[in-house]
Amino acid sequence: MSSNFVCKNLSKIFSTDGVTVSVLSQIDLNFKAGEFISIIGPSGSGKSTLLSILGTLDNPSNGDVIFEGQNIFTLNAKELSDFRFQNIGFIFQQFHLIPTLSVLENILSPLFGRKVTYNKYKRAELLIESVGLKGKENSLPSQLSGGQQQRVAVARALINEPKWLLADEPTGNLDTDNSEMIFNLLEKLNLEKKCGVLFVTHDPILANRAHKKIEMKDGEIIRVEKIGEVYA
Ligand code: ADP
Ligand code: MG
Repeated sequence: MSSNFVCKNLSKIFSTDGVTVSVLSQIDLNFKAGEFISIIGPSGSGKSTLLSILGTLDNPSNGDVIFEGQNIFTLNAKELSDFRFQNIGFIFQQFHLIPTLSVLENILSPLFGRKVTYNKYKRAELLIESVGLKGKENSLPSQLSGGQQQRVAVARALINEPKWLLADEPTGNLDTDNSEMIFNLLEKLNLEKKCGVLFVTHDPILANRAHKKIEMKDGEIIRVEKIGEVYA
C-alpha cells in the first residue's frame, strides 16, 4: 500500500486562560508517497501546528489523519511512538542537535534504545557521505557552520529511512547559499530515497520548486497548486 497521508476535516483549537483560539480549521489534504510538497503562509497561519499534528507530536481537536489506511490518532502512546519512529523524520529551523554529542552520535541518536536489523554504523556512514559531511564524524555541533549543522539534522532525520520527512522552516536560519544547499539536498534525498517531503518555508522561490505548493492563511488552506510530478 502506498504511504499516503490524508487529513480529513482537521481542526485545532487552543484554549489558554479561558480564551479559545482556532488555529486550524477544515483542513482536507491528501499527500502521495514520495511527493515533495511545500507549505507557505504568513507567520501564525498554522503551518507548524499542521506539521506537528501530521508528525503526531500534537493531536487535532477534530478530524482525522489517515496513514496507509489507518487512522493514526486511534493508536496508543507506544504505538504512536513506533509509528513516528518507522515513518517520520523531523527537521526544524533551530537544528536541535545535542551539543555534547559528536556528528556521528547525533545521527545515531534516534536509534538509542531501539533494536534495528541493519548495521547502523554503516548506514550512518553512508548518510554522512550523502549529506557531504565526510571527515566531520567526530566534530561537535559547535564546531560546524549553520549549514553543516542542518545537514547533520537531515542525516539524523533519515537514519531510520522514514517514509516522510517533515521540515519546519529548515532554511529559516540560513543564508541564501546554505538555504539553496539544504533545499538541493532535500531534493536529492527525495529522489534517491523516495521519501516524501513536507517543506515549510517563507521563501516563494523555494516553494515553487516543489511538486505541489500549499498556501495557508489564518489556519486554512487557501490554495493548492500542482507544480510538477513525483519522479518515482
Ligand atoms: P506558523 O508556523 O504558521 O507560524 P503556528 O502553527 O506556529 O503558525 O501557530 C499558529 C497560531 O497558533 C499562532 O497564532 C500561535 O500563536 C498559535 N499557537 C501555536 N501553538 C499554540 C499553543 N500551544 N497554545 C496556544 N496558541 C498556540
Ligand atoms: Mg512555524
